[in-house]
Amino acid sequence: MKNQELVDYLASCGVCRVCQLRYLKARGNEYRDMQQTFQRLDVKVDDSDLKPSEDEPNEQPPKKPRLTICSTCLGLFSEEFQSQLIEGISKSDFGKYDSAGIVLAITLPLTLQLRQLSMWFALQRKFGKSSFNDNSAPDVPIKEAVKLILHPIVCSKLGREYDANGLMINIDVRHSVESEEVDQLTELNRVAFPVKKRTEISRGLLEKQYQPARIKADIFEKYLPIPPAAVEEPLQLQSIDLMGPIVCVAGRYRKLSRELSHTPWVLQGKRIMEESIEEIIAKQVAPHFTDTVCKVTFMSSGREDVDVRCLGKGRPFVLEIMDAKRSSLSRQQARQMEVAVDMSGKVSIHNLQVVPREQLTHIKTGEEQKRKYYRALCVLDEPVTVDILKKLQISESFIIQQKTPIRVLHRRPLHTRPRSIYSVKACVSRENRRLLIIDVVSQAGTYIKELVHGEFGRTTPSISSIIGKPIDILALDVVGIDLDWPADVNNAEIEVE
Ligand SMILES: [Zn+2]
Repeated sequence: MKNQELVDYLASCGVCRVCQLRYLKARGNEYRDMQQTFQRLDVKVDDSDLKPSEDEPNEQPPKKPRLTICSTCLGLFSEEFQSQLIEGISKSDFGKYDSAGIVLAITLPLTLQLRQLSMWFALQRKFGKSSFNDNSAPDVPIKEAVKLILHPIVCSKLGREYDANGLMINIDVRHSVESEEVDQLTELNRVAFPVKKRTEISRGLLEKQYQPARIKADIFEKYLPIPPAAVEEPLQLQSIDLMGPIVCVAGRYRKLSRELSHTPWVLQGKRIMEESIEEIIAKQVAPHFTDTVCKVTFMSSGREDVDVRCLGKGRPFVLEIMDAKRSSLSRQQARQMEVAVDMSGKVSIHNLQVVPREQLTHIKTGEEQKRKYYRALCVLDEPVTVDILKKLQISESFIIQQKTPIRVLHRRPLHTRPRSIYSVKACVSRENRRLLIIDVVSQAGTYIKELVHGEFGRTTPSISSIIGKPIDILALDVVGIDLDWPADVNNAEIEVE
């Protein structure tokens, strides 16, 4: 079979030039200059009998009858459809999104798959199974062709780049023959695969069962024509929905209040605290990216109790914003948000920046391996002695066994977990000899309050068991988290009007 014979046959079946190239297995750029590609493939094409749309739409003679519609793509690759698509996207909320990258997600009628199979059968009949076997598709599949052909055109017309993680343009395309042909398919399916109880017609079913290796042409032809029938109407653009990219905004927060929960604290439908770290930050950051606050997820590298402050460099956090309209953040804008959060007096943030989504692994994984630095204010029943101070200068790491604290048993399962304590240092308060300031470096996930008082032996050893005396904790601060992320960006240098 020569390429010329194939193209002539396809043309006689009403297959458009783009699809002819698909059946010649053209790749990438070969769809751009089709004339040249045909030449290279040793195919002569008579321009006068081809639809003029692809190359020179303006030179179409006015008297020419209505364009014929390709029987295999139903006009998906025609210039008319492209213009319709670009117009549809431009009329949507597209302009509200600043995403530099876009990706098309086109839902196509099932009939395109049926038509591909029909053409496959037709080619086998015409040229034999040695040219077109049962197992490998005769064409570049439509889905792939959409990427090769439609994507570059739409991107260049809209002035955006292709990016699988960019603004997703969901396009629903319908065709008037769809329901009739799917009805035929339902009948066909009952006959061709009678043992299958499931007669639900789906894309997956078509992909799996509807290949020459699984179904005979003779049976297929009783319900649907080989080669595919001509159509009179073009594809209809049913709807265009936009889904903005997921934008991740990271930074570090310091928690300055001992009366602030991490996330909204609601008990039996009632709010316990009016605000939370999550809300204070999201309120200032999210509106820049989205107008729907429910599309925001707050994550941090661990968390502290309501009554624990987090000082030092602060704790890394990230806001994951779905369907973002804006995906960039200038340092000036970031600084304005930092200043606005600081105004709360309860939380302070810095290093605010947009980060690639892949970097979220820093927050999500390896949590157990991280070191945390704490400072605890503790009280004894009696004045601190030199002996006690000596016992609390520990520079070698040791392991404790910690049962899930009673106070969190309602939300965490009961386990005994080993935790590493890397060092302990203590000094006595000058004002009150019964007060101890203890610095602890521990493995993430250690319950520090229980480490101090021992919780009736549920944590062993504990500071209490080490000194052999009861000890209580009055206040706790997180003073360091050894996660060097996100990068230092120093928005504070930026002056904000
Ligand atoms: Zn076509």
